[in-house]
Amino acid sequence: MKKHLLFAALAWLGAATLTASAQTARKHELPKLPYTLDALAPKMSRETLEYHYGKHYKAYIDNLNALIPGTPYAGLSLEEIVVKAPDGPIFNNAGQSLNHQLFFLGMSPEPQTQPGGALAAAIDRTFGSFEQFKAQFAKAATGVFGSGWAWLATDKAGNLSIKTEANAGNPLRSSLIPLLGLDVWEHSYYLDYRNRRAEYITNYWDLVDWKVIDERYDRR
Ligand code: MN
Repeated sequence: MKKHLLFAALAWLGAATLTASAQTARKHELPKLPYTLDALAPKMSRETLEYHYGKHYKAYIDNLNALIPGTPYAGLSLEEIVVKAPDGPIFNNAGQSLNHQLFFLGMSPEPQTQPGGALAAAIDRTFGSFEQFKAQFAKAATGVFGSGWAWLATDKAGNLSIKTEANAGNPLRSSLIPLLGLDVWEHSYYLDYRNRRAEYITNYWDLVDWKVIDERYDRR
């Protein structure tokens, strides 16, 4: 009898432990967009948003949620996973989840069209002018071979730099803070621009909301 009670207690403890670890696994969510799926058209069409936001981005988050339970990454934020995970499926899906969050939440149908405040001054100081920054950034983004990202990044002190990354790369991997990330994977532009990446990049400037990018710089 006593033995049975002991087994019952152990079974209950085991179940309770499993429940506790399941609760500490963070569920990453697809963020709601602050605009409708057709709001960025014609520069970024509804169909592109349906696939890019609704399928590609969602798949990265779903994959991540399936991969992390029972790993050291279960309770971590996207940023923490991107810094800590070795190259591999968990890093790839966390990186892409974070990259797409920065990309989609950094655009608006009614954007602030230029940087302001401290970021505007830093861009002028670093690149000469906003126009020169855009030209250098576009050249970097155009030159990414295959799938990847172009980034405007900063360090803690506020020093800016343009970086390019392959695949799911993010400046956090080299201790920099991402401010602006442009997706140059073909899935981001092929429906609207076919192979014309340069035209996609030119039109992207009309969608960037510098109010959001200013805030990221001020929060760094
Ligand atoms: Mn993408």
